[in-house]
Amino acid sequence: MPESNGDERPTTSPRGRHTGGFATRAVHAGERAPKPDFTPTVTPIHPASSFFYDDTETLDAVFANERSGYVYTRYGNPTIRALETAVASLEGTADAVAYSSGMAAIHAAILLDVRAGDRVVAARDVYGATYAILTKLFANLGVETVFVDITDLDAVRQTVERVRPSLVCCETVSNPLLRVADIPALAGIAHASGARLMVDNTFATPYLVRPASHGADTVVHSGTKYLGGHGDATAGLIAADAERCLALREQAKLTGPTLGPFEAWLTLRGIKTLPLRVARQSESAARVARWLAGHPDVEAVYYPGLADLGPAAAIFERPAHGGMVSFDLRGAGREQVFRFMAALDLCMPATTLGDVYSLVLYPAMSSHRALTSEQRAGIGIGDGLVRLSVGIEDVEDITADLDAAMAVGLGRSGAPTATHDSPLASRL
Ligand code: PLP
Repeated sequence: MPESNGDERPTTSPRGRHTGGFATRAVHAGERAPKPDFTPTVTPIHPASSFFYDDTETLDAVFANERSGYVYTRYGNPTIRALETAVASLEGTADAVAYSSGMAAIHAAILLDVRAGDRVVAARDVYGATYAILTKLFANLGVETVFVDITDLDAVRQTVERVRPSLVCCETVSNPLLRVADIPALAGIAHASGARLMVDNTFATPYLVRPASHGADTVVHSGTKYLGGHGDATAGLIAADAERCLALREQAKLTGPTLGPFEAWLTLRGIKTLPLRVARQSESAARVARWLAGHPDVEAVYYPGLADLGPAAAIFERPAHGGMVSFDLRGAGREQVFRFMAALDLCMPATTLGDVYSLVLYPAMSSHRALTSEQRAGIGIGDGLVRLSVGIEDVEDITADLDAAMAVGLGRSGAPTATHDSPLASRL
C-alpha cells in the first residue's frame, strides 16, 4: 500500500453518515473531499452542474444574491468565474460575463440595450452574423437597424441624430478590411444622444485596445479567436460595469447561454499567453503586410499598421496592430483565389481567426457570401480579396507559402520562392 498523501477522501454518502452498499459506494466513494488546505496552481475544471452547502440557509442566501457562492452552473460556476475575472481585469472593467460563443455574447449584449420599437445604428461592415442577428432576429422583434460607414464620423453623427438609436454597434478593427473605429469619438456621439456604445473587440484584443477605457459601455468578444488562441474552444465574453454585468447575469439565468466549464478553462489557459501571442502575431503580420505591399501579384494590402488611422490611432495601447492582414490578389476572381487557397501548404483555409496557426479565408465565399458581387464591391470587398490571420509560425515560412500559392493561383510561371534564405525573405 502506498503511504497516504493526506488527501483522505470519504467513502460514504454525501453527508458522511453512512458507507452504504456497493452501488451507493460506486456513486459516492471518493467524491467531495473535505475542503483542502492546499491551493492548486491553476484553476480546477468544475464540471458540476450544482453545488450544495452544509446548511440550507446558506443555499437560500446564495439563491437570494445575499451571499456569494454557486448553486447551479447556469447561474455561475467557479471555473467560468475565473475566466470572467481574468477578462474583466484585462479589459479594465468592473466585471465580465462568459457565454457559450461570441454570437451568444453579442445576442445578450444587444438584448440588454434594446426594446421593441428601438433603433440601432451599426457599422455597415460588422461581422456577418452580427449583421444577420440585427436584420433578422431583432428586426422580427421590432428593432430596426440603420447601417453606416463607422469611420465617417460626420455620417455617424447625422445618422445618430436622425435615428435616435438606443444602441450604436461597431468593431474595434473591422472584418475583413481592418478599418479602425475612433472609439472615443463614437462614444461621444452615442452618449450625446442617450445611446449606449457596444464594441466588438475580438480582432484587437485588450492587449492592443481596451474599448471601455475610451467610453464603450459594452465590450464583446468571440473568445473562440485570440483569447482562446488555439482553435480548440468556442466561447464568448462581455466586459462591462458591475450594474450591466448584474443585469446580464439575470438575463443569462433565463436564457441559458452558459459556457461549458471545460471551454472556460481552455480559454483561461489561452489567455495566459495572449500578450506573447498577439505581440508575435502583430510583429509577423506587419512584416507580412510590408512583404505583400511589395509583391507584384498583390494589388492592395489592408493592415492598420500601414494605414493612416488619423485620431483613431490613439486607441492602441502600444505600437502594434494585430495579426490580421487582408490583400487583393491582382486581377483575381473566385477561380484564381480558390486555386491560391488550394495551393497553400502551411496556411489553412479555415473559417476562423486568431489561432496560433496561420489561416486564410475568402470573404466573398464566407463572411460576405450573402451579398452580391456589386454589394461587396460597394463596401470595398473585391472578388480577389483574401483575409489572412497570421499565426506564430516562422514568418519566412508564411511568406514562402503565400508566394508559392500565388504563383499557382495566378498561373505565374518561374515563381520566385521565398524561403528562409531567398532574396524575397530578406525584404521582410
Ligand atoms: N465577432 C467577430 C468579429 C467574429 O469574427 C466572430 C466570428 O468569426 C464572432 C463575433 C462570433 O463569434 P463565435 O463564432 O465565437 O460565435
